[in-house]
Amino acid sequence: MSKRKTVYGLIVFLFTISLVLAGIIFYAKNQKVKVVFLDVGQGDAILIEKGSNQILIDGGPSSQKELEELGKYIPFWDRTIEVVIATHPDQDHIGGLIGVLKSYRVGEEIDNSAAGDSEAYKNYLQLINDKKIDRLRGERGINIKLDEANLTILYPGEDLVNNPKDTNADSIVAKLVAGKNVFLFTGDFPIEEDTRIFASGMDLSANILKVAHHGSKYATSDEFLGKVNPREAIISVGANNRYGHPAQEVIDKLKSHGIVVKRTDQMGDIVYEF
Ligand SMILES: [Zn+2]
Repeated sequence: MSKRKTVYGLIVFLFTISLVLAGIIFYAKNQKVKVVFLDVGQGDAILIEKGSNQILIDGGPSSQKELEELGKYIPFWDRTIEVVIATHPDQDHIGGLIGVLKSYRVGEEIDNSAAGDSEAYKNYLQLINDKKIDRLRGERGINIKLDEANLTILYPGEDLVNNPKDTNADSIVAKLVAGKNVFLFTGDFPIEEDTRIFASGMDLSANILKVAHHGSKYATSDEFLGKVNPREAIISVGANNRYGHPAQEVIDKLKSHGIVVKRTDQMGDIVYEF
């Protein structure tokens, strides 16, 4: 009798395991490409996900907030983020990545290799070293595949401004192509570097633009907008922030180009799925 009970128990156990595995396989096969502009307050964090594969661009200012946000989109059993990209070494972009490096296995870390002088940046580099995470210099031409989606770095090139007092100047600018959907991610890329990115001859056109520098007036020129020519623009920004982001003149500029503006301070997480 007890032997029979053991056999039944084993069958139920195996059946449960196969159900869970089938569930995971089904989950992985039926996932769409998802691009989420996470509402991390005053900062940037963008998750690109297909099934159990993720690329994370920046992590907002706070580890706690970033991990909470990621928990909403990354299944609990998936503890690996394949690629983490830090656009530049400012607190509002890499602060939350510290928690990410501590809590997830990170396959590869990509940054522009320009110097930063913040405490967050020192801690960030220390963690990459301690955890022996592969670190790659993010420069023009680097290409990351996520299934059928393709992320390409357009800026910076080999020539960095490399000034710890002007970290925005070397912000990584990258384009994601997923079918008909094209996103341009700009970090805090400033107007002063327009001539450099235009001279590179890179095609900046995209349907959806992540507005540079939280809508600051020192970013997003008319000429830049003309080259991107987006349908929608996302501003990742904290409510009532002390920088006055986004600037009214940038909002007006976007509207004068007929662009639909979406803001994380007003809409929370902004999710695209296809
Ligand atoms: Zn910023």
